[in-house]
Amino acid sequence: MTDVLRAPKGTFDTLPPDSERFLAVRDALVAPLRRAGYGYVETPVFEETAVFSRGVGESTDVVTKEMYTFDDRGGRSLTLRPELTAGLVRAFIEHRLHTGALPVKLWTVGSAFRYERPQAGRYRHFTQVDMEALGVDDPALDAEVVALGVQGFRDLGLTDFELLLTSLGDATCRPQYRELLVEYLAELDLDDDTRRRAEINPLRVLDDKRPEVQAQLDDAPLMVDHLSDSTRAHYDAVRQHLTDLGVTWSEAPKLVRGLDYYTKTTFEFVHHGLGSQSAIGGGGRYDGLSAALGGPDVSGIGYAVGVDRTLLAVQAEGLDVVARTGVQVFVVHLGAEAKRVAVRLVGRLRQAGVAADTVYGDRGLKGAMKAADRSGASHAVVIGERDLADGVGQLKDLRSGEQRAVPVGELFETVRATVGG
Ligand code: AMP
Repeated sequence: MTDVLRAPKGTFDTLPPDSERFLAVRDALVAPLRRAGYGYVETPVFEETAVFSRGVGESTDVVTKEMYTFDDRGGRSLTLRPELTAGLVRAFIEHRLHTGALPVKLWTVGSAFRYERPQAGRYRHFTQVDMEALGVDDPALDAEVVALGVQGFRDLGLTDFELLLTSLGDATCRPQYRELLVEYLAELDLDDDTRRRAEINPLRVLDDKRPEVQAQLDDAPLMVDHLSDSTRAHYDAVRQHLTDLGVTWSEAPKLVRGLDYYTKTTFEFVHHGLGSQSAIGGGGRYDGLSAALGGPDVSGIGYAVGVDRTLLAVQAEGLDVVARTGVQVFVVHLGAEAKRVAVRLVGRLRQAGVAADTVYGDRGLKGAMKAADRSGASHAVVIGERDLADGVGQLKDLRSGEQRAVPVGELFETVRATVGG
């Protein structure tokens, strides 16, 4: 006997009915973007490796340890996307979207792949909703982006989440700050690995979760205290607009994101019901990314939200996000003649836009009624042999249990009027 094949380590299948919740979460996260004028972009799930090594940052964990990189049969180095921003910006550059009206507002959704150590909320294949606004450096746009992220979570009914916000400065003030931080970190008692990180990417050390490291960082210099006048003014304006938009946040001066190229406004959404993998989304302004990918030197801001983790957050808060089940009406039949009537009725209902289903494989009335209940439909049509002899079918409200006889010729119209569609 051959072994049963399983989904690869760190991946999983999402089956009905959970998959309905997944779709509901995904769609709720996307809806505010469509309402705000963002346009959908579809990009490949793999890109030339350089898109990520340059677009995510050579020194990041994602690029050094987590990418699924392979040579194709033509000898090209390709990588399964570990995130969606770099591909979107690559498409923005390739299609010269910056020559049109600005800002260019884009969104996408789909799979991302990272070779990470799997645990609850951390997978090797996961789904992100990603949005970007490119070509305009305006604090009001930063506020729009952040507020749209908040809106998606609110629309799902989530309340136990928090927006962490800070500014990472820009090329005019970060280099000086970086030096200050390097000097500070050099005096600390750190292991070799962390010391090396302190040299390559000192800001990352601030985000180190280990208590023995955090304990030494109480007096560390913070970027927000060393912003240039213009980046400070930008940050103040972002906060003003967020207040006007009714968004609340927590200042997080030690927030550092996993990807390079972030400048100025930087943020993360965390959910308090998720344990250690608490980030449900994050993003920020990345004014150097387009240029790093060989494009025009234009600014950009955006975020990525994890659909899988947001679904975990929805479950942690016990929210029912599936507004309506797939099937509205389930048709049960007994006998060959009734089956023809049923199949025809289901076909007509579906053509009219009513979500309808029926039983296949003859399983008797009991099994068929069980299938009707399981389908989640609000109504069942039961067509038995005796009913059919009388020229009727029974329309049953599965919630109240009430049922009434409807002439066969009127079933279609009656069902349609009852369940809508
Ligand atoms: P990042 O691109 O790392 O900023 O991630 C953005 C969001 O994607 C995070 O806040 C998570 O919600 C989600 N995410 C990132 N990595 C994973 C992963 N390995 N498994 C599941 N979700 C993830």
